[in-house]
Amino acid sequence: MTIKPKVAIVGRPNVGKSTLFNRIIGKRKAIVLDTPGITRDRNYGTADWNGRTFDVIDTGGMDFEPSDFNSEINSQVNEALKEANVIIFLVDSNSGITKQDDQIAKLVRNEKKKLILAVNKADNDVERLSAYEFYGLGLGEPMSISATHGTGVGDLLDRITKMLPEEEEVDKETDRIKVSIIGEPNVGKSSLINKLVGNDRMIVSSHAGTTRDAISLNLETEDGEKFKLIDTAGIRKPGKVQEAVEKFSVIRAKDAVDESDVSLILIDADAGIREQDKKVAGIAFESGKGIIIIVNKWDLIEKDNHTMKEFEQYVRDELPYLNFAPIVFISARTGLRVETLLPLVTEVYSNEIKRIPSSVLNDILYDAISMTPPSAHKGRKLKLFYLTQVGVKPPLFIVFVNDVKLFHFSYDRYLINYIRKVFDFTGVPIKIKARQRS
Ligand code: GDP
Ligand code: GDP
Repeated sequence: MTIKPKVAIVGRPNVGKSTLFNRIIGKRKAIVLDTPGITRDRNYGTADWNGRTFDVIDTGGMDFEPSDFNSEINSQVNEALKEANVIIFLVDSNSGITKQDDQIAKLVRNEKKKLILAVNKADNDVERLSAYEFYGLGLGEPMSISATHGTGVGDLLDRITKMLPEEEEVDKETDRIKVSIIGEPNVGKSSLINKLVGNDRMIVSSHAGTTRDAISLNLETEDGEKFKLIDTAGIRKPGKVQEAVEKFSVIRAKDAVDESDVSLILIDADAGIREQDKKVAGIAFESGKGIIIIVNKWDLIEKDNHTMKEFEQYVRDELPYLNFAPIVFISARTGLRVETLLPLVTEVYSNEIKRIPSSVLNDILYDAISMTPPSAHKGRKLKLFYLTQVGVKPPLFIVFVNDVKLFHFSYDRYLINYIRKVFDFTGVPIKIKARQRS
């Protein structure tokens, strides 16, 4: 597993950051399968160019009052400087150097960060010439581009890929189950980690994680089970809510999830499920990793016999695509049920690496077909010949059929549910792909 290098686009409002961002990653986003209910962050995405893959972050889209420009742009640029490997500083060829451009230049000028000054909206030769004026920012040679027409964007991407560092190889240690603890600020991530670590029967060692700003902790339980906790809680918001910081915290959650085997998604029982929680949940879902949903601060809730059932239904309604994930109600403060978490992580992990022999799968397939045969579609009927597991983490199955076009979503879901009924895949997303039998 590797963590992708990051490229951030900074600049004052309206210079074309979002347009450039969409141009760089647009095509790729379009092929992402749309899962209902997933809140996607429009502000980051993955790009491929010349065989290199990197994440692009659009720091734009923030509506702030002109009076707030100073503090907002400071936090935006500082976050980008902290997180990204390459910064694209975007300016507008039509407006010349503005005061705000100057201010951003000041923030980035003395940083050793790799920086590209790109002059956007250079749609024609005259505008391309005006790019020279931006030498005045003291940031080296400006590149002219047109984000709407695509002119110069290929050259820009060439330059970016030359500047990217080698991909960071993430921890190759295989005997530890890697667990990320993710969630909105203040849901109780640090408290939970302290509680997990505070158990004196636990052997703990801490070292800086590969995920920037994340700490990882090695834990070993009495019975010798080894874990590595990847903590994204180190992220602290100074003072008021800052959008730039939020945005980058989502990216960090993505890194942590990519690095882990099982993700614990924390939700604040008192605050309920908010947009940002759904973003974090969407990231975990898309990674295909094992997932446990944790409802924290359960001590704050006034309860009767139905409260937990009702809350569970609420979580299922809000995060329908995580229907495979177990839900645990805890209090990181009082310690309620915290001791159940690591055993559950172990169980989910063992489901994640489970392999079912083809002979067994084919008995199951036969049973499933007998119970509910596929219905005919326009006079043609789906025939399923053979089911086999081709991957783990997450488990991937291939079913050979007479015609892949006849393998519809409803039968796919039926088979998945059937497999889940027979085998324990709690906490793990499973997928079936149909292949034409040749
Ligand atoms: P952001 O606030 O920096 O994210 O800027 P946007 O991407 O929202 O763009 C601001 C405006 O500039 C929009 O109306 C875009 O259509 C326009 N724009 C962006 N790139 C170009 C370009 O290359 N040429 C021209 N002519 N307009 C552009
Ligand atoms: P983080 O930002 O996700 O790491 O959240 P923290 O662990 O810093 O917790 C944020 C606040 O919620 C702190 O004031 C905690 O004391 C409080 N908190 C965390 N877990 C619980 C809990 O289970 N019950 C209650 N009542 N408060 C909690």
